[in-house]
Amino acid sequence: MIAFDILEYECPEGWTKLVNDLCAELALKLEELGLLNDYVVLQAKEKFGELRWYDNGGTDETDEIIRKYVEFSRFTCCECGEPAEYITTGYISPYCEKCIDNIDDTATSIDEYYKCWEE
Ligand SMILES: [Zn+2]
Repeated sequence: MIAFDILEYECPEGWTKLVNDLCAELALKLEELGLLNDYVVLQAKEKFGELRWYDNGGTDETDEIIRKYVEFSRFTCCECGEPAEYITTGYISPYCEKCIDNIDDTATSIDEYYKCWEE
């Protein structure tokens, strides 16, 4: 169950559970803070292999929850939701071992990819 409306929703199929979990956790926190009715998600989408979440009415605490799920999204197959092992390098998206076989793109190990970013 998604606890609130997302005005523009463009997330890949494989991230549905992740987005639902994020919404559930956000809703709990917002309720605790008394902000549930003031909170709006303007847009949720995938960009450069990670979740992008644009909202209004959140706090540092909700931002922290969102950051955690953005991190999860990088390692979640955008096709089926399984843990991602690979990332495509043309249009950047994470895929699991099984789904990467159907993708016509150059792919690299996801661990290698994010290791390069950290250096
Ligand atoms: Zn997959």
